[in-house]
Amino acid sequence: MLPFLDIHCHNPFKYKNKNVVSVSSISYGSSSSLTIPKDIYWHSVAVHPWDVQEFSSLDSLNFEKDLGHPRCIMIGETGLDRARANFELQQEFFLKHLEIAKRLALPVMLHCVRAYNEVQRLLSKVNLRAPVIFHDYHGTLQETQTLMSKNCYFSFGPRLTHASTKLLEALKEIPSSRIFLETDDASIHIREVYECYSSLAGIKMEDLKLEILDNAKIFSRLLINF
Ligand SMILES: [Zn+2]
Repeated sequence: MLPFLDIHCHNPFKYKNKNVVSVSSISYGSSSSLTIPKDIYWHSVAVHPWDVQEFSSLDSLNFEKDLGHPRCIMIGETGLDRARANFELQQEFFLKHLEIAKRLALPVMLHCVRAYNEVQRLLSKVNLRAPVIFHDYHGTLQETQTLMSKNCYFSFGPRLTHASTKLLEALKEIPSSRIFLETDDASIHIREVYECYSSLAGIKMEDLKLEILDNAKIFSRLLINF
């Protein structure tokens, strides 16, 4: 049976069987995420935009060394969140993350809340060629069309279980060759998110699993045996 891929989760311990491959989001500002054993779990690492005020700069961290870990498959989550304070500082940290992603050619998992224009402005400024994935995507139709034209990827999570009209419009616009699925910090099993997407997009479960595993080839370090 093909495995599920949970591309962005905060609690990999919830999965007891081997039929789920999960990628843990580790943030330097979250003590619980720092307890995830990096040698065992695939992961991404970054300073989460909510945590930027806890750090004077990225230089005080072992960031580049941590990014070199063989089980670290990308940078993330980084990005911008207009619902939180320190928007200026968030931009400063985000730009640094993007510059490092460019230099190391690593994909980036993006957190973006009400800041699509600013995120795009900084992505263009850096001229990043590595793939970017918008996690918990819930942009408008217009934002979706713009991001599609820039070859971005989109990850959908528990929001699919109560999808708004806006989200359904975005889903129609995005082919399954551009998607990932995630549980983020919710306690649900990734299977439920797959089931939701499968019925909303009208794609059979096994075809969906295959498609997502194929999309995951953008992560050169992620090895999935099945
Ligand atoms: Zn998250």
